Amino acid sequence: MRFSEKNIPGSLNHSLQIKMADEVDDTIFGKIVRKEIPAKFLHEDEQCVVIKDIHPQAPHHFLVVSVKELRKLEDAVETDQQLLGHMMWVATKVAKEEGITNGYRIVINDGADGGQNVYHLHLHVLGGRKMNWPPG
Ligand code: AMP
Repeated sequence: MRFSEKNIPGSLNHSLQIKMADEVDDTIFGKIVRKEIPAKFLHEDEQCVVIKDIHPQAPHHFLVVSVKELRKLEDAVETDQQLLGHMMWVATKVAKEEGITNGYRIVINDGADGGQNVYHLHLHVLGGRKMNWPPG
């Protein structure tokens, strides 16, 4: 059984909870970034890679994934500012390359209430259709 933040029982002692949380630090995106499983990169550099989302929610839907294994945006520290800016920059660059000409939406689902499912920092870039507001 794989454990996630959502199903770690609250009654477990703290050290066991930490161990179980460590077990989920290696996500599918960690394996993709380390090239342990194959993926087509739309962009690759020393700080991030870009892949198409496997379940696209718009005609264009790609993910900018950090190479650094940050579990979520909330875990970023002051020295991650350059990385965060770089990921935004790469999002705009790949959006142009993908021919998204009429705007797009950049989303970070952060933590449980943010709707995050994969605990490895990534930006979603969605385009090719009109987005709704407020989001669900
Ligand atoms: P989030 O809910 O913000 O953590 O987003 C995770 C996203 O990763 C979802 O949109 C999934 O469709 C996407 N995803 C999960 N596994 C893969 C994969 N192997 N390749 C590409 N996208 C994936």
